[in-house]
Amino acid sequence: VTEAIGLDIGGTKIAAVLIAGDAGQVLERRTVPTPATEPGEIVRALVGAATGLMTNQVRAIGIGAAGMVDRAGIVRYAPNLAYRDIALGSLVREAVGVPCHVENDGNAAAWAEYRFGAGRGVRDLLFVGVGTGIGGGIVSDGHLYRGMSGFAAEIGHIVVEPDGPLCGCGNRGCWEQLASGSAIQRLGRARAREHPDSLPVSMAGGDPEAVTGAMVTRAAHLGDEIAVRVLAEVGGRLGEGIAGLVNVLDPEVVVIGGGGMDAGELLLGPARSSFKTTVEAPGSRSNVPLRPAELGADAGGVGAALLALEELGS
Ligand SMILES: [Zn+2]
Repeated sequence: VTEAIGLDIGGTKIAAVLIAGDAGQVLERRTVPTPATEPGEIVRALVGAATGLMTNQVRAIGIGAAGMVDRAGIVRYAPNLAYRDIALGSLVREAVGVPCHVENDGNAAAWAEYRFGAGRGVRDLLFVGVGTGIGGGIVSDGHLYRGMSGFAAEIGHIVVEPDGPLCGCGNRGCWEQLASGSAIQRLGRARAREHPDSLPVSMAGGDPEAVTGAMVTRAAHLGDEIAVRVLAEVGGRLGEGIAGLVNVLDPEVVVIGGGGMDAGELLLGPARSSFKTTVEAPGSRSNVPLRPAELGADAGGVGAALLALEELGS
């Protein structure tokens, strides 16, 4: 059986998987912290994670990297990480001795969900990864849509509120500032200041400025009304943005993943409602389901590994 290794570089950890290439099945997984300091440290962490999962059957390594990854596998720009113009693929290949393919992490997750997750059996899919920011991936007629340079599906950086909060990319009011985990945290803190007796504030030790998105989500799951309303508001913005993307792309399904989906239906329900009222002519198109992703934290690594094998022609 052909095997491959997938490495998904997140803001805090690198999730590494060993997969059986034909079925996408995860044989082994491990995580290591993402060094925030300098690019050389990131390469060393990737090489370490890959070496730890290496077998005689491994034919390729796939890397899913946040940011703008060009078609040559060079990470050109990442709003939320400390690397620029770094050839991750050739550096890892030189160190490990196995062909290495680098892909944007949203593209990789989209491909995994398309092949073996919530998008099985469809031809046209939009993946929306809701984390600290919003990543995306587009499968069009069974092919990953990369655009001219490989930069397609940077959906988080569409400006939807010109005077809105400052984004990691330098613009104001990008969609990801209003509809992701950062938005849950920002809005959660604003509501916490207005309601100092609410559950998120007590979770934060009484300090509204210490409220995190995860606390808001936890409080909402426990039934806290203020937290539920924060998720509903952010979910609403999420659904609106997805409606615009569905107008452009006309996918069969929208798969929503990332850490933000810990909120589950508390985020997805309001997103579905605003999607239905915002998408063009909902009565004249077939229903486009907004489905939760199925592969969870494995998606980026599995997709990167599958794409690396496809690059080899296997
Ligand atoms: Zn931005």
